[in-house]
Amino acid sequence: MCKDFPDKAQESYKKRLQSTIFVCKRLKTDIKMTSLQEKTCLECLAPLKGRADKKFCCDLCRTAHNNRLNSRRNNYMKNVNNILRRNRRILTELNAEGRKRVSIEKLKARGFNFNYYTNKSRTRAGGEYYYCYEHGYMPMEKDHCLLVVKKTS
Ligand SMILES: [Zn+2]
Repeated sequence: MCKDFPDKAQESYKKRLQSTIFVCKRLKTDIKMTSLQEKTCLECLAPLKGRADKKFCCDLCRTAHNNRLNSRRNNYMKNVNNILRRNRRILTELNAEGRKRVSIEKLKARGFNFNYYTNKSRTRAGGEYYYCYEHGYMPMEKDHCLLVVKKTS
């Protein structure tokens, strides 16, 4: 019958699949064992001997590695701080009066980044203020924002 063939094909496909899975599982344990046996220095990849929790081959490598990590973190912080400072500057420039309605387009055109703010507060009416330091905005209808300044004194 015609129906027989697909069944048989399916059967042999299953068998092949099972043997592939078996090989994969073996490979996986092999990889695990090699990585257990040969731990390497996180900085220079030299094989590590000695304590199991050792991560570096020497103090120089430890220092180099940590310095690189720290400078990456510092760079990230610098970038975020720059975005926040730029946001604040834009709000300051557009809101000399202390309270002003502006379009989202206008903020975006100046390079305002809506993903970054220092804090958020909710009004009793359910509106939300997003602050970059003491300057903030509340999203309003028709793609506009109300710019405000927090009283800091
Ligand atoms: Zn090393």
